[in-house]
Parts: sequence; C-alpha cells; structure tokens
Amino acid sequence: MIKSEPVKDAFLAVDRANYAPSSPYEDSPQGIGHRATISAPHMHANAAESLLPYLLPSKSATGRPRRVLDIGSGSGYLTHIFAELAGSDAVVVGVEHIDALRDLGESNMRKSPEGRELLASGRVRFRVGDGRKGWVEPETLNTVSTDPSATDAIEAGRNVAEKDPGGKNVGGAADESDAQGWDAIHVGAAAAELHDDLVRQLRRPGRMFIPVEDEGGMQYIWVVDKDVDGGIEKKRLYGVRYVPLTDAPKKN
Ligand code: SAH
Repeated sequence: MIKSEPVKDAFLAVDRANYAPSSPYEDSPQGIGHRATISAPHMHANAAESLLPYLLPSKSATGRPRRVLDIGSGSGYLTHIFAELAGSDAVVVGVEHIDALRDLGESNMRKSPEGRELLASGRVRFRVGDGRKGWVEPETLNTVSTDPSATDAIEAGRNVAEKDPGGKNVGGAADESDAQGWDAIHVGAAAAELHDDLVRQLRRPGRMFIPVEDEGGMQYIWVVDKDVDGGIEKKRLYGVRYVPLTDAPKKN
C-alpha cells in the first residue's frame, strides 16, 4: 500500500508501538478503548498516499505552510504521520469527540522525543469537538482574510467561538481559501454523508479523504477535491469498514 518514498520514510520514522496497545506491527486494527480502534496500517498508508500531494510542503514560491485536519484522531498515530510529511512549518490538528481519546492521542505522542517536540512547538494540536462540523482553530479567528467572500464565514466561526469560550467545538464555517481552511482533511470514522461543513473548510486547492456509509450499510472511501476556483469533484473508491462518526456518548 506504501507507494512513495516520503510515505515510506514517514512510516519508518513513527513507531506504531507508541500508538497501538498490542501487536503494533500486525496489519490489523487494534482496540484503543471507547469503542475506537487504531486503524490497520494499510488503511493509514492508503490515506497518506491519497492525501500526499496536499500534505507535502508546497514547492512553489507562494506555497503556504500546510494545514492538516485529522478528524477522529483516536490513537494519534496518523496525526503523527501527517506531521512528519507536512514539514516543519505545518500545523496538524487532531479532533476527537471523546475527551479521553483526545488525551490518549496526546499522551501517545509524548512517548517519543519527536512527538514531544511536535506538541511543544504547536505543530500538532489535539482538540475536542464534533468532527462532523470540521474545526476552526481559535487562533485563526482574528486573522484578516484577503478574500471578501470569506468574511461571512469568518464571522460565523467567531460567533461560534464566542458562544463557546472554552474553545471546544469551534466548528462551523472556515475561510476556505486562507488562514482557517485545510489543505488536507482526513476522516477516520465512517460518516453518514459528505458533510458540507467539511467540504467548505477545504482550502482551494484541497483534498478530503472520508469513509461514508450508504443506506445499505456499505462503506466506501470518498475523495473530495476542491480546485483553485472552488470547483468540487467527488470520487467513490473502494469498500472499507470503519467505526461510525457519531454523536459523542453522554457523560455521566
Ligand atoms: N485515526 C484513528 C481512528 C480512530 S477510530 C486511529 O487510527 O487511531 C475513529 C475515531 O473517531 C474514534 O476515536 C472516535 O472516538 C472518533 N469519532 C467518532 N465520531 C466522531 C465525531 N463526531 N467527532 C470526532 N471524532 C469522532
């Protein structure tokens, strides 16, 4: 499943033993509690290969630092792989709807010196929120957009943030072309639909990798591309089996 050198190097650089509670080098998913699993390495490889053009640092003179969103970050393993690929000026955000799993991703990352450095530098952040709404990093709410069509979106995001000053669940619209949007969005749980909020939060250009369950209960990987003009192309690829992207369990 690993086809390119950068993905191979990233997989060699990140030890799955820090993220999988057992049999880390087997090509199978492993339970991590809370009905979640660390996906099988071959699915992580597929995701990284598919998103690669949007993960690697841009070579163009105008290239902006990468912004990558990993929804349902679970163990944190793929979040770390993304950070490895995206370069030293990138920001990679993992979003979980269960506090304990947010904490798990972060504590797994703390097991290695490289992981600790990613957290300390702010290049990787683990957040709590409903990933179906995407994610707006609180720090980006004050950035000024050069794209007038994005102003409403920024306002919408700011309003959400004010209602939720704890910074949790700052979902909502993002500035798709600029500071708030994402070059790559990975969804690690099966969605019921291709959530509009997620497509909106893709940068131009940008790509989303998302498993979606159809009405017959079959799950397929979809890849959604947004081009530089904002045009959207959706492609259904192969069948898969993921845990569902759901409401957060009620807290007692
Ligand atoms: N990429 C992770 C996959 C974990 S399993 C890994 O390989 O370790 C899928 C994860 O999605 C679970 O941890 C689950 O808690 C999370 N999840 C499910 N619904 C969610 C939602 N609405 N918002 C955010 N995370 C969600």
